[in-house]
Amino acid sequence: MRFAFCLMTRPTWAEIHLDRLACNLQSVKNYVGDKYLKFMAVVKANAYGHCAVECARKLETDGGVDWFGVALPEEGIELREAKIQKPILCLGSFWEGQEQQILQFNLTPTIFRLEIAEALDFAARERGIIADVHIKIDTGMNRVGVRFDEIKEFAEGLRRFKNLKVDGLMTHFAAADGNEQFTNLQIEKFNEAVEIFHEKGFRPTFLDLANSHGTIGFPQGRGNMVRLGGIIYGLWWDSEKIKAGNAPQAPKVLPVMTLHTKIAFLKNVPKGESLGYSRSFTLEKDSLIATIPIGYEDGYSRGLSNRGRVLVNGIYAPVVGRVSMDWTIIDVSEVPEIKIGDEVVLIGEQGGLRISAEEVAQHLETISLEVTCGINRRVKRVFKDQQKNA
Ligand SMILES: *Cc1c(COP(=O)(O)O)cnc(C)c1O
Repeated sequence: MRFAFCLMTRPTWAEIHLDRLACNLQSVKNYVGDKYLKFMAVVKANAYGHCAVECARKLETDGGVDWFGVALPEEGIELREAKIQKPILCLGSFWEGQEQQILQFNLTPTIFRLEIAEALDFAARERGIIADVHIKIDTGMNRVGVRFDEIKEFAEGLRRFKNLKVDGLMTHFAAADGNEQFTNLQIEKFNEAVEIFHEKGFRPTFLDLANSHGTIGFPQGRGNMVRLGGIIYGLWWDSEKIKAGNAPQAPKVLPVMTLHTKIAFLKNVPKGESLGYSRSFTLEKDSLIATIPIGYEDGYSRGLSNRGRVLVNGIYAPVVGRVSMDWTIIDVSEVPEIKIGDEVVLIGEQGGLRISAEEVAQHLETISLEVTCGINRRVKRVFKDQQKNA
């Protein structure tokens, strides 16, 4: 007898469709149609919950990626320890004391503080090397980055660090999925900043501005590299523009993560009884109620209580009562021929019907990225690759 899982694990899992990941990137590349443009795959936060190592491996072997982007040096180190070779940009810079690791693991940091530049310059001099850095310029996000009006002083200040090479300039769009005017202003400011760096004698190789929505919506804002996150995971449909009904024409992408479990328990519950914590749901008729082994600890948010829906045997079944830490209750009265062990799809497709991460996000008043990022490590990832199996 063969088991789909290691023996005796809870049947709650996320499938990661690596073939779709590679196709999505290719689809964006075809759409952009610029063979000189470089493509960074952003795999921070464990690749938005999809597993950074497996995703990076797939994209490096047959995805045609040029760079990887992570938030923290720790995430970059995880990739290097898994033998990922492509350049890795630490989008969130690094913290004092991490400069040795930056150099040891050949990571490229973004820099927006001179003290941090100085620490890296010192460490690079000790090793007798020149370290590449990318400068993060704040053109309107007002989060991190050298303020646009302080660029001159910053560039001047960088000139004394002889063991650093400014090899990239970048900025980040605040509203690429919404406000066109503001994004165009950011592009203008960035171009001015590039000129200032040129005047100060810097010749950076990489100029990058655009995230997923910037890449699709603003061809004039692509610089010579784009940084793609959401879109390569197929998470695309909850932008402001799309909701407002004026989406830019977009490349075809498919969701990379699907979320599954199985029916753990079934019971008939009579009309008038309540379900779950706080008794937030009372049955209006005699019902068939199922319990599934997934809860808010797994990242199936408590906010889906009495709101979410799942797919069982090809039809939608509503979440009833509060989602608890390890269990969720669903009403399967309408589901034909249901039994313990039947598969339940929480995100994905079944019988031609679909529940997207964007739909789940809408119930939670958030975006799909938070939904996939939130799927906890307790949920086993099962990697699928039809290109490999074929
Ligand atoms: C996360 C991130 C991205 C990717 O953004 P998406 O909207 O997911 O494409 C790009 N650039 C920076 C600096 C980021 O932090």
